[in-house]
Amino acid sequence: MSNKGATKCEGSDPTPGTDPFEDMVRRLRGAFNLGQTRPAAFRMAQLEGLGRFLRENKQLLHDGLFQDPQKSPFDSDTSEIILCQNEVDLAIKNLQTWMKDKPADTNLLTKLDCAFTRKEPFGLVLIISPWNYPVNLTLVPLVGAIAAGNCVILKPSEISKGTEKVLAEELPQYLDQNCFAVALGGPEETQKLLEHKFDYIFFTGSSRVGKIIMTAAAKHLTPVTLELGGKNPCYVDDNCDPQTVANRLAWFRYFNTGQTCVAPDYVLCSPETRERLVPALQNAITRFYGDDPQNSPNLGRIISEKHFKRLKGLLSCGRVAIGGQSDENNLYIAPTVLVDVQETDKVMQEEIFGPILPLMTVSSLDEAIDFINRQEKPLALYAFSNNSQVVKQVLDQTSSGNFGGNSGFLYMTLPGLPFGGVGKSGMGRYHGKFSFDTFSNHRACLISPSGLEKLNEIRYPPYSSQAQKLLRWAMRSHSCTLL
Ligand code: NAD
Repeated sequence: MSNKGATKCEGSDPTPGTDPFEDMVRRLRGAFNLGQTRPAAFRMAQLEGLGRFLRENKQLLHDGLFQDPQKSPFDSDTSEIILCQNEVDLAIKNLQTWMKDKPADTNLLTKLDCAFTRKEPFGLVLIISPWNYPVNLTLVPLVGAIAAGNCVILKPSEISKGTEKVLAEELPQYLDQNCFAVALGGPEETQKLLEHKFDYIFFTGSSRVGKIIMTAAAKHLTPVTLELGGKNPCYVDDNCDPQTVANRLAWFRYFNTGQTCVAPDYVLCSPETRERLVPALQNAITRFYGDDPQNSPNLGRIISEKHFKRLKGLLSCGRVAIGGQSDENNLYIAPTVLVDVQETDKVMQEEIFGPILPLMTVSSLDEAIDFINRQEKPLALYAFSNNSQVVKQVLDQTSSGNFGGNSGFLYMTLPGLPFGGVGKSGMGRYHGKFSFDTFSNHRACLISPSGLEKLNEIRYPPYSSQAQKLLRWAMRSHSCTLL
């Protein structure tokens, strides 16, 4: 590729001994060491460039997103482009405030000193992203990394080819190419890239690859954020309006053809609620996608043959209550609801990541909570009930990265909320100011006056018993205003 901003490992068999990313890493690290990315004006200019990229390449991005996850322009706007634009706008508006040193309280011992936290850039950051929201999950972290003053290598997914191409060919034209670059390739190339030392790695993807990333980062003791996946439980209480719950569930489950990390993965409810929920879900699916969802412009396709085969295998778990049709030539799987599902079924053992919703019955709220707490901590957890105490009980007695009460994943659209996983679903958080903080080293600073040495005499040995008493007292006194 002629573009200085994008580098790929040509073919799947790079010449032994060569490192396709060496120049890129050297160039960016050199720029960081020269302090190029530190001034607020530089960060602002890059954020504005990113905003322009989003505005001027909207059609190309729509085309790219339609090519791979087959996203409609509306879905592309609402789940990808607008969210990036909001993050850019917020960062531009708040950059000066976020960058300010944050003063800290002193005690009597340090009363004449100036104590503050300095948010400084880490240095060279690597952002690795997946295919399912390939614009959002690449550029939203980039906003935080730029705002925090880092140089960045982006490694978009090789699977969402359409978006990868736009990011590689167009994005570098809007950013300083000495400080920002796009690296191309799949697992093999990414592992080559990971041999380099980075100052921070931000990874979004599967838990399986998350372990590979963390292992590579550990070699250099590089800090990481891991935004991973898993199974997101959804409890539906008997006290609910089944059609309201079904509408919300169906929208959040089948959006992006179910290929969403925060989608409700399975439902826990009583046998009675299940009986009311199934026809309501059928209503919602027909209303959203018509009698033949294969012809709906609002339902995409499965990203690859491999994922299609995996999902098709899950259709034999339990009993198909709704949908179940598939078409391999078209990578189509109908919006599906499974019932009579057991905990030991495959569909309850792995992240579904497709348009399939199993309903598993439990006999009580306590049993549902116990079931949830026996699983790995999920990225997202949902509870539906007309009784706010039930929603509160699920929230209070469980743990997850994110929580939706009578709702789905709209918390993701609010930059005032942190987004991230916990336990096996990930570590670290971002969005809005949380992104700026994630990509900043929070440096503790204490600056003393160079004079007034007489006042320090008391600190030095040998300690008289009176000095010891005074020092102990001074260290305990946080709010003393004597000096
Ligand atoms: P993935 O883990 O297969 O790939 C993610 C990235 O890692 C890609 O850029 C890919 O090139 C790279 N990669 C893949 N295999 C690698 C290897 N062996 N060594 C080094 N790098 C490798 O994930 P995916 O299939 O693209 O995305 C789906 C997964 O991502 C799901 O598990 C989903 O839950 C998760 N996800 C999480 C979030 C979140 O915000 N927590 C968001 C979207 C997707």
